[in-house]
Amino acid sequence: MGVRDMKGINNQAEKANFRSLLESDGTGRLEERLNIIDAFLSTEKHITFEDLLRILRGKGYDYDPDFVRQTLDRMVELGFAQRKKFEDQPIKYEHRHLGRHHDHLICTKCGKILEFQNPEIEQLQAEIARKYGFQMLQHKMEIYGLCSECLAKRKPLMPLAIAKAGEVVVIADIAGGATARGRLAALGLRRGDTLEIISNEGKGRLILAHDCTRLALGRGIAQKILVTPSDKREEAICKHEDMG
Ligand SMILES: [Zn+2]
Ligand SMILES: [Zn+2]
Ligand SMILES: [Zn+2]
Repeated sequence: MGVRDMKGINNQAEKANFRSLLESDGTGRLEERLNIIDAFLSTEKHITFEDLLRILRGKGYDYDPDFVRQTLDRMVELGFAQRKKFEDQPIKYEHRHLGRHHDHLICTKCGKILEFQNPEIEQLQAEIARKYGFQMLQHKMEIYGLCSECLAKRKPLMPLAIAKAGEVVVIADIAGGATARGRLAALGLRRGDTLEIISNEGKGRLILAHDCTRLALGRGIAQKILVTPSDKREEAICKHEDMG
């Protein structure tokens, strides 16, 4: 039996389970609600409420958004869907498979969400909780970064102004004349220096970590600094000697 067939059967079981729970409390408009859960189960992606409306319209169901919203809320309440809020993204929904757990990698450039399961990470988390006498009820493991496709598209040399928060980069070159160079020298920034981007909102100043201090840098000047991504982590910015 193919994966697709298995999934089809599983979705039928989910739908039947949803139906019996709705029937048990006498919820109305049952068939329409079953069409909604059907549409939701038809994708394995993490989708927004608007995506769900689009999928429904694609299947020829033009339901009142309030009705769809209310049904989706029931799906969450009854344990068929789960609501997810990833940083900088609108609220998304995904299936809630009983007895199965996964974690996420989120691309901060294109928004792609990848799922992974790692028994060793799960076990380590349980061990940490135990060590603190803590009963773990749930956890989120979200890794933010750049996906392989976004990385491949990235130029080896880029202006600092487009680097993402959390990135560690090395100053490769400084474009512009003596004035720009002078201003950077005054800030203590030289070619070969390692920087961590603390925040970059796409407008206004960038906040950087450099040599154990935080610096605010205007966008204009950040446009003139050419950087290459570094594989060093943030530890490179500030060495804590006391920690050995
Ligand atoms: Zn996990
Ligand atoms: Zn990406
Ligand atoms: Zn997921």
